Amino acid sequence: MKAELNHCHAALSSGSLSFQNVKTFQTTAVDASASDDGVLVVHCSDPRYQPHFQSFLRQGLGIPRYALLAIPGGVQALTLTDYLPKFAWSGWRWMKFLTNLTSPRRVVLITHDDCRWYLDNRFAGAVNARDLQVEDLRRVGRAFRERFGDINVELYYAALEDSRARFETVS
Ligand SMILES: [Zn+2]
Repeated sequence: MKAELNHCHAALSSGSLSFQNVKTFQTTAVDASASDDGVLVVHCSDPRYQPHFQSFLRQGLGIPRYALLAIPGGVQALTLTDYLPKFAWSGWRWMKFLTNLTSPRRVVLITHDDCRWYLDNRFAGAVNARDLQVEDLRRVGRAFRERFGDINVELYYAALEDSRARFETVS
């Protein structure tokens, strides 16, 4: 009898864990009064880095919520004003929209190691990728200050280390 009950309980538990059987999902509460709305983040869409970016922003930098532009290559689109002007125009249009929406006092720009966008499109080779990506971060950081005035811009470089990622400040 006991074994039967345990079996039944186990079946119920595993069933309730499957989201496919549930019609709705409710997240845990977020403090909407947090005064961190004025943060704008740009980073790459690479799926390997998403949990690490979120962890870094929330736990590492203490930002509970932020406006986000996540596109392949991150800030790289914003550097292409000469090479692919329409591409760059869209990127800066989105930045202007988010800046108007959130009046950010803090902008966080993150690039990462082994970025397939840079490598697969031959914007960079494996040897010079890091230098080029860091230079792009700095260029876009300067452009943010020129376009949107007195904004605190922070630059970071992330690299995977096994199942974790390490974030370094870029000055
Ligand atoms: Zn990437």
